[in-house]
Amino acid sequence: MSFACVYTRASSGVQAYLVTVEIHLSNGLPQLNIVGLAETEVKESRERVRSALLNTHFEFPTRRITVSLAPADLPKQGSRFDLPIALGILAASNQLPGANLQAYEFVGELALSGELRAVHGIVPSVLAAQQANKIMIVPMANAVEASLVSRPNALLSAENILQVCAHLTGQKILTPYLVDKPKTIVPDAPDLAQVYGQPHAKRALKIAAAGRHHLLMRGPPGSGKTMLAQRLRGLMPVLTDHEALETAAIYSISRRSLDWKTWKQRPLRTPHHSASSVALVGGGNPPRPGEISLAHNGILFLDELPQFNRHVLDALREPLESGCITLSRAAHQAQFLADFQFIAAMNPCPCGYWSAHEPIHCRCSPEQILRYQKQISGPLLDRIDIQIEVPRLAVKQFLEVEQPKEETSAQIRAIVTRAWDIQIKRQNKLNNQLSGEEIQKLCCLSASDRQLLGTAITRLNLSARAYHRTLRLARTIADLSAMQSIQTDHLTEALSYRPIPNILKA
Ligand SMILES: [Zn+2]
Repeated sequence: MSFACVYTRASSGVQAYLVTVEIHLSNGLPQLNIVGLAETEVKESRERVRSALLNTHFEFPTRRITVSLAPADLPKQGSRFDLPIALGILAASNQLPGANLQAYEFVGELALSGELRAVHGIVPSVLAAQQANKIMIVPMANAVEASLVSRPNALLSAENILQVCAHLTGQKILTPYLVDKPKTIVPDAPDLAQVYGQPHAKRALKIAAAGRHHLLMRGPPGSGKTMLAQRLRGLMPVLTDHEALETAAIYSISRRSLDWKTWKQRPLRTPHHSASSVALVGGGNPPRPGEISLAHNGILFLDELPQFNRHVLDALREPLESGCITLSRAAHQAQFLADFQFIAAMNPCPCGYWSAHEPIHCRCSPEQILRYQKQISGPLLDRIDIQIEVPRLAVKQFLEVEQPKEETSAQIRAIVTRAWDIQIKRQNKLNNQLSGEEIQKLCCLSASDRQLLGTAITRLNLSARAYHRTLRLARTIADLSAMQSIQTDHLTEALSYRPIPNILKA
């Protein structure tokens, strides 16, 4: 036989399309050609495969070898095709029984010695192969990451090409990679009880956790905004199986390592204010996910919000509404999930010390303050449901001998989990995702409350979007106290989080 075909997967965003590697040996000048929209790294595979086969004492056929990667119109990058190409050449030159290859899919880079090296973005490939009822063979270096998402009998890993061949010929069967899965997973975040005082901010944090609402904290340096933000994910349940798979796929293709320590942990991303828009929303060629996608199902925390480039911030508006981002570059187009909870912190003014009660400490001119605040556009602010002031603690609060007993993260998480259960049971999603129609149905107000909301909208000059967001927030506050319908105090509390008044008018 001078023909063989082997199955593998191409990586395209979080998709992993099936690729058939066809090998044909024919008479002619000895050479190896790879066709099928293969990019440079794939073409370099020729040299690696040749050396790897010779160094493992196989014969490299001195014939004309044509390698076709089908479908031909799908761009293919990376070194992941080395292993399937090498196995195909062995099968086509009768050094390996071709029929034995059909139950498998292979992914792996070959070293010149024949060892297998890790490839990027293994998770989507493993998931796709599993769905197609194929056994995937991956490099040992990818085994931990692959085992996170795989059924035990659908995944094998090998150190080198000799082990793969020995398995395929039945000489020495590969054993599945065994992992110690942790029995219970709890959020790995510092405890909220470590933060003293700030009852108002803690209440806001609890509500933000209960409905995954976006939150902006404004306060002077040292008031604990960052500490509060870091503790938010400890107030929420860990990821579900489905969410964990989505998150693992995004981390895998963005070349970040995955292991059991981070498995099911809600992501918390904290990009620096010098981040470019590509770093934040994604981009490049081929498109790679940015921070907003790495924060999918978790939290994106932007500290010192006005320090971010305004255009960079405005790029967040679309994914904040839709929960995903589409990136188009020349030959590639990719859509990445980006359903993140947006948490931001800022100082009240450039020097940081302006406050309504003691404006005397501030050294900024009104123009400076105005320019500082204008860094954040109205449409972005409009999308933030909860906006609060975080004041600095008075010294005497630290000196109190008897610190009041604080609610722990675990206690709050129990209450939040109950509120999530209510929402999932009622509408199969959290309140932050309610559509306009669902808001009409599920966020009913009494006649007097409707009037109250109407007055507030006129007074605060709220947009239609802010109106919907206020109702969603009121629904969450009602769910936190396990109430069927939204009461007046739920609505007034929701409204109290809405505007941070312009400090120049205050
Ligand atoms: Zn100032």
